[in-house]
Amino acid sequence: MLSSARSVSAAAQSRGGAGGAEMEVRAAQSGEIHVIVGPMFAGKTTALLRRVQAEASNGRSVALIKSDKDNRYALDSVVTHDGAKMPCWAIPQLSSFHEKLGIEAYDKVDVIGIDEAQFLDDLHDFCCKAADRDGKIIVVAGLDGDYKRKKFGSVLDIVPLADSVTKLTARCELCGRRAFFTLRKTQETRTELIGGADVYMPVCRQHLHMDGQIVMEATRIVLDLDKSTVRSHALK
Ligand SMILES: [Zn+2]
Repeated sequence: MLSSARSVSAAAQSRGGAGGAEMEVRAAQSGEIHVIVGPMFAGKTTALLRRVQAEASNGRSVALIKSDKDNRYALDSVVTHDGAKMPCWAIPQLSSFHEKLGIEAYDKVDVIGIDEAQFLDDLHDFCCKAADRDGKIIVVAGLDGDYKRKKFGSVLDIVPLADSVTKLTARCELCGRRAFFTLRKTQETRTELIGGADVYMPVCRQHLHMDGQIVMEATRIVLDLDKSTVRSHALK
């Protein structure tokens, strides 16, 4: 009993190496898939980074991936709206990850975090192989729906594969209640329009059908009012 436990842990420690013992351990090691969804500004990336950093501080080897379509902050990092960041691989599709990283390095990775997963079309295939075959722990963050509340990319397709699914909420920009959806403020109709608070805002069910343009106009009036209030206070 003892010696077999020792040999498994010794083989587990040398996960990078090749050989029969390694293969056995690899096959015995069970992968996991965890999915974090929700509207924009719900803290999905923050939750992803926390999870991946926790795994890293437990001594696991981690890698972070995002789509190279998302270049809002930086291509070589995953950055949250509040400025936390971590280095990542920005790639056009997940199938190019092995090649970018190299097979040896891929074998050493225990945990793979994927951000903005709605832009990565081969998500389902990749998660199947990485978790089922290669025993990786996959943590996926992405939008479940687009601004029309239709499914976005293939994030929902991996729900049947997942160990856990977490739907985070934001705060409705108009009333402060819990927001489940993302409203587009502009008239642009492309599904993949990358933007931040200038283009999108989280909304509750009640404010889902607000016209984006009207919202922007209303916001501008409120901001102008605020400014003039500040000015009149300053004058007093
Ligand atoms: Zn609301």
